[in-house]
Amino acid sequence: MAPQNQDLCTSSLAEEDFALIPEDEHFHIEERKLEINFRQIYRNLRNLDYSKVSWRNVTLFVLLHIYSVYGLYLLFTACMWRTIAFTYLLYFLSAMGITMGAHRLWAHRSYKAKLPLRIFLAFCQTLAFQNSIFEWSRDHRVHHKFSETDADPHNAQRGFFFSHMGWLMYRKHPDVIKKGKTLDMSDLLNDPVVRFQMNYYVPLMVLACFVIPTFLPWYLWGETFINSLMVPTFLRYCVTLHVTWMVNSLAHWIGSKPFDKDIYPSQNKLVATLALGEGWHNYHHVFPFDYRAAELGGVINFNATTDIIDFFAKIGQAYDLKTASKEMQENRAKRTGDGTHENRKTEKVM
Ligand SMILES: [Zn+2]
Ligand SMILES: [Zn+2]
Repeated sequence: MAPQNQDLCTSSLAEEDFALIPEDEHFHIEERKLEINFRQIYRNLRNLDYSKVSWRNVTLFVLLHIYSVYGLYLLFTACMWRTIAFTYLLYFLSAMGITMGAHRLWAHRSYKAKLPLRIFLAFCQTLAFQNSIFEWSRDHRVHHKFSETDADPHNAQRGFFFSHMGWLMYRKHPDVIKKGKTLDMSDLLNDPVVRFQMNYYVPLMVLACFVIPTFLPWYLWGETFINSLMVPTFLRYCVTLHVTWMVNSLAHWIGSKPFDKDIYPSQNKLVATLALGEGWHNYHHVFPFDYRAAELGGVINFNATTDIIDFFAKIGQAYDLKTASKEMQENRAKRTGDGTHENRKTEKVM
């Protein structure tokens, strides 16, 4: 019976996702430029309610960035090549845990995965240390459903820095909590992998994100303890965080809007490249149920995550991959796009 229940949950979620941004609730968006306005930054800092700042997170982020800068120096001056390769591998796995796991599988249910793949993805997601799968998915569903409102945890209307990382250093807006409680999260609570990770999150996270990445290079090929701690652990963790945050900041600021010109999310190639396919954000907010999170999949289209999902589908671990049809895409682009979708097609023909 359980799979049937999951099926029901999945299809209703996909429909709900499709209607996440009702057109009558669209607000017109002014063209925004990414400018550094020091006077504005000063005004914002002066008006900030400091009683709502999470000083614990501010301290941890400051320390992480200091260690990461030192890690970057060690990467170029003192690291063994095996440690560098290992760092990249961990970056790739942690990114997969977020893109293929927390985002496309658990938050959006854009495909289904068998138990071994879910366990593997849960490990990768724990390696990335961005809160448990349950919490990550709830924040992300709220982000989609109430985009650019007070209920959006990283509301881009509150500025670039807030949507990038400021939201993690400031107390959540009450609407985020209120609206978050209205979401149906039962599909995640029915997944034993999600429940297990949630129940033992702190020890699992310390082990996966900090202990294993530091221990392995030191034990297996004799890397120094400091190099092992600073490069594959702190630097890799910091880079993965910034790449994920860029989806919420940069891809909500810069890029074309071929599918809906009246929302912030944009098509951003830089973010797509770094975040393994998550930068095609205008498409993704319009068709969040599509497992490709983009019109096109594959490494050549800056969407490596799709290739990996396709690979797991071939060996039977991933299934029921959902996509938006060409017709849906073109109709939507014609109706609400900024015209760049049509231009692109004309360019190709010419
Ligand atoms: Zn978004
Ligand atoms: Zn999403």
